[in-house]
Amino acid sequence: MKEIILAKFGEIVLKGLNKNNFEDALLRNVKRRLKRLGKFDYWKAQSTLYIKPLDDGIDVDEAVDRVKKVFGIAKVARAISVPKEWNEITAAVSAYLDEALACANTFKVKAKRADKKFPMSSPEICTELGGYILDNYPHLSVDVHNPDVVVNVEIRENAFIHAGSEDAAGGIPVGTSGRAMLLLSGGIDSPVAGYMMAKRGVSVSAIHFESPPYTSERARLKVEKLASIMAEYCGAINFHCVPFTEIQEVLREQAPEELFTILMRRLMMEVAQRICDKEDISALVTGESLGQVASQTMGAMVCTDNACRMPVFRPLIGMDKSEIVAISRKINTFETSIEPYEDCCTVFTPKHPKTRPVLQDVIDAQNSFDYEPLIQKCVEETKVYTITAF
Ligand code: ATP
Ligand code: MG
Repeated sequence: MKEIILAKFGEIVLKGLNKNNFEDALLRNVKRRLKRLGKFDYWKAQSTLYIKPLDDGIDVDEAVDRVKKVFGIAKVARAISVPKEWNEITAAVSAYLDEALACANTFKVKAKRADKKFPMSSPEICTELGGYILDNYPHLSVDVHNPDVVVNVEIRENAFIHAGSEDAAGGIPVGTSGRAMLLLSGGIDSPVAGYMMAKRGVSVSAIHFESPPYTSERARLKVEKLASIMAEYCGAINFHCVPFTEIQEVLREQAPEELFTILMRRLMMEVAQRICDKEDISALVTGESLGQVASQTMGAMVCTDNACRMPVFRPLIGMDKSEIVAISRKINTFETSIEPYEDCCTVFTPKHPKTRPVLQDVIDAQNSFDYEPLIQKCVEETKVYTITAF
């Protein structure tokens, strides 16, 4: 029995004239994620994308897992498809859902008749099919509120039989909301921030600052692994690795210690923006959350944003750490994020950072040394490569 995957569109069903653009982006993203699993046939109808495996031996479990992570899809069901004839429908229920029905105590039938020419109404389908199931599985009883199994029948161009749909990623398709550069550290927060922007349709590139030899190759590999996990949702990520040691060393020697972090963050932003300019990317994203640490007070953010020409999106700004952790567990970055490797920020962290820096002091401190050649060198020496999902 060959299964078919039904991916139900989420928010994009509300779109007006440009709905097709969203649907096309969604289809492209699904195809990209399934390409390596084999050949599939795709078609759209009634706010659903139908995905039919064409090769024998395609891993449908894996395909469903992948489709569930594509933004723009609200629900995913695996179903079988039969001609719209009563005998075919009952035979399909017995064959496809036999094990589920045999193990259950209660069930209900849910019918949806998208093809209004089908001779039975939805309530009639429910009654008739319910009767058929009770005759064939006499141990079962009907429970409309909390059944063990829901037998779904959807009458469309064919009849689709399935045991219910699972929640998928939601959001809108990646590629429909512009491009942004995520400042990606090895921590818990920034991968979640990237995920949240991608969920709203943003194509996410990433920039990581490293400080060899203070930070190790293992630390970078960890960040690359995070990017690879994120890519299951975000699509392939253009990854930029910036050698940041020299700027940090100069800052440590020349800048007032309590302003070190804020100056470093301003220079990170400057390097990131120059790379964005080259790549036609129009916004930055960070994993900051208000008040989480000294560099994430409002005063510190005012000083950081003063160095930014581009909008800085901070999707975690109002979230508690526990809420951020819950998302990082859900998207599977948490276990990697907590691996104990050093980050360039922590290596040089001053003991007493200013939580209320005065903007003019920060600007004066920055202007007291010649950082321009250092920034240019950072940009020139940045390595760029693509990171894909496993
Ligand atoms: P995270 O969990 O994302 O590391 P954090 O709570 O450790 O965040 P900070 O270290 O203050 O907070 O970093 C704040 C933000 O700055 C990060 O979320 C990230 O966007 C960016 N950032 C920090 N370190 C780096 C780095 N080495 N490379 C790129 N971006 C960084
Ligand atoms: Mg960090």
